[in-house]
Parts: sequence; C-alpha cells; structure tokens
Amino acid sequence: MNNATGCMPTLDGLKSYDDALALLLDHAQPPAERQRLALRDCLGRVLAQPLVSAIDVPAWDNSAMDGYALRAADVPRAGIRLRVSQRIAAGSPAMPLQPGSAARIFTGAPVPEGADTVVIQERCERDGDTLMVGIEPQAGANINRAGQDIRRGAEIIAAGTRLLPQHIGLAASVGVPELDVYRPLRVALFSTGDELLMPGEKLTAGKIYNSNLFTATGLLQSLGCEVVDLGIIADTLQATREALASGAAQADLILASGGVSVGEEDHVKPAVESLGTLEMWKIAIRPGKPVAFGHISGTPFLGTPGNPVSLFVTFLLFARPFILRCQGRTDVMPRLIQVAMAADWPRADPRREFVRARLQQDDDGVLRVQVHPSRSSAVLSSVTWADGLAVIPENTPLKAGDRVGFLAFSELLR
Ligand code: AMP
Ligand code: MG
Repeated sequence: MNNATGCMPTLDGLKSYDDALALLLDHAQPPAERQRLALRDCLGRVLAQPLVSAIDVPAWDNSAMDGYALRAADVPRAGIRLRVSQRIAAGSPAMPLQPGSAARIFTGAPVPEGADTVVIQERCERDGDTLMVGIEPQAGANINRAGQDIRRGAEIIAAGTRLLPQHIGLAASVGVPELDVYRPLRVALFSTGDELLMPGEKLTAGKIYNSNLFTATGLLQSLGCEVVDLGIIADTLQATREALASGAAQADLILASGGVSVGEEDHVKPAVESLGTLEMWKIAIRPGKPVAFGHISGTPFLGTPGNPVSLFVTFLLFARPFILRCQGRTDVMPRLIQVAMAADWPRADPRREFVRARLQQDDDGVLRVQVHPSRSSAVLSSVTWADGLAVIPENTPLKAGDRVGFLAFSELLR
C-alpha cells in the first residue's frame, strides 16, 4: 500500500478520507497547454494567467444619477439659482464647468472639471436656462469616482479561477477581448460489467441499464471536461487491459466504474497492475470503500465502485478535486455548510459517512438536514431526492439539533 503522505492507515488498512485525498492531490498535475480564446468562448474555462487591469474603472468621475453637476460651495443653502451652462449626456465629453453655473448631466456622463457634486433632478426646478437648487448639496454626492471599482494595475481575476459569467463580464469591463485559459481536460470513461445494457436496448434476464456512464458523463461535463466514451467493457482481464491502454493513448485521465473489488469478476486491479502502477487504497468512508488509483503509461487512472450511488459519491469526493487540480483550478475543496440534524443519528460508525440528505427550512427559518431513509448504494433515486451529502464524523452518534457539515451538490458541481 502506498504511504506517500507518511500517514498511518486506519481501520485495518483503510486509509482515512483526509489521507486518501492528500495522496490523490499530490499526484494531480496542473495542465501544461494553454489557449487564447475570445471572451465569449471562455465560459467554464480555467484562467491560466492572472488578469491585471490596464485601466481605472470607471476611467473618470461620472454621474450616478440624472440631475445637475455643480460646485457645492456655489449653493450654501437651499433655494439658490444658477445658470445652466452645458448639457452632458453619457458618452459625450464634458467641458470645464463655468464658475457659478450648473451642468445638466445624465447617469454615466463624465462629471465636468470644477464640479464636485450632482444634485438629483427631483430636488431641482428648471425654468429655461435658470436652475433653482432645492437643497443644500453635499460635496461628493452622486458621483462615481474614477477607479472606485477597479484600479489600474490591480489583479482582478486570479489564475486558476473557473470563469463564470461574472468573471467574463469583469474582463470585458476592463476592455480585454481575449483570455488565456487552459485546454479542457480530456477524460476517457468506461463502464465494466457483463450485466450492462444501454438505455433503449431490450431488458433481458439478469441485465441492468448502464446508468454510471450517464451520471459520470454529466459530472465530467459539468466540471468542464471533454469525455471520450470507451463504452461497456466485458468482465475479462484482456478487455479491461485494452480499455486502459486505449484510454491512456487518448486522454489526460481514465475513469472507470465497477470491477474494482477483489472478486473473480473484478479485473481492474490486475489489469492496472499488469500495464502500469496501482496505488489502490481502501478508504474509511461510506459509501465507496474501494477506490482505485494508478497510472497507465503516465496517464492517471481512477476506478470507482460500480454501485451507482458509490460512483456518484466517490466521484464528488475524490475524482472532483483531482480533476479540478488537473485543470489548474485553485479552489479544489468544496465549502461545508454547518446545519442542524432534523432527527437523531444513533449509529456511530468507524467510517466517515457521506449521507444523502435534503435541506429543509423549519418554522423558525433554520435549515435542517433530513437524511434519506435508505443507506444502500444501489438506490440511485436517493441522489435525485437529495440536494447534498451530510458528513457524519467517525464514531459519532448525533442528536436532533446537533450540527453537521453539509456538502451541497450545487457547491460540488460549480
Ligand atoms: P461492481 O463494483 O462491478 O462489483 O458493481 C457493483 C454493483 O453496481 C453491481 O450490482 C453492478 O451491477 C452495479 N453496476 C456496475 N456498473 C454499473 C453501471 N455502469 N451502471 C449501473 N450499475 C452498475
Ligand atoms: Mg462488476
């Protein structure tokens, strides 16, 4: 058993969740290849180089309201009259303000040199070229200052950020038309199992439909990966070896479901060992004890259990942070929310348990975690019922109202 982190295995050879994750992340290589893409093609990609603004935003003081720009000192009390000396719309340049006058100004228009405040139009009365200011203005009011959003030279998006719509908007706001991003990670996917049929095929005795292909494809796509589907692989050593070799030749990562245990029909472990290196570990978590990790010709390999819930959970717990790191992302660990248990959890277990659960708001508005009645990793409907995983610590019975960590699916699929 690999012991690269120097940590002791727990529970008779089971690695703790934290040790397993550390080992995995240790092996994750950030990508080497970059691309320069037009802004509109950057959604979901990972920024390869910090984005530094070449300009102040806004570039000059501008009006936050429709109204009149003037010098506050010219209006020491309400009721003063001033001449309107110019009109400034958004997009047009302003001339310096003539002393003792006001400028008609609109939202977003540059504040003229010499003006230090904008009085909103609702506080003014206009008669031809004469303006009556109905308040005593405060210097600085209703002006967006140059650089108040972004200062020239400031880093506005860190390298390793997955680009969301708001990041792309921010890049546009500093005038940048293209960004340097990493190439998407290519993941080869195969499903082991002689029992598997594809949806659309007729269900025959002893068979089941291949759901893992679709769950895993969706998970990978939602993280911005390209998927190479290697299909359903028969439960033989030869077929498993061929799938691994094909994946290594085509992809940055090979992901397989099923066949990772040590039964006679489980060929993943010997196939990986015969072609490359395997650091297989058993992890002290529920669901998903066996997760295989290794390398085939330098390409990392991850094998999850075949049970549909185990695939989903182990993907989120292990494949996800590994993939994120391989994509160059810096925020690989999800945020845990602290919420209260809705009911007792009497069962202390030496393995950390990631329980399918829902958040429900009680009458006081407090979020409570309601746990799905089934703990079986074959019940895939439980993951559509749930909106996240409650994290039950090792050896810890809980009472209703006790706080637990909750991993929201929405957080995990960002
Ligand atoms: P295994 O990890 O190969 O021993 O499979 C464990 C359980 O998951 C078995 O009941 C399999 O039939 C089921 N299973 C394996 N692969 C898939 C798949 N691709 N889709 C749905 N269920 C699967
Ligand atoms: Mg199997």
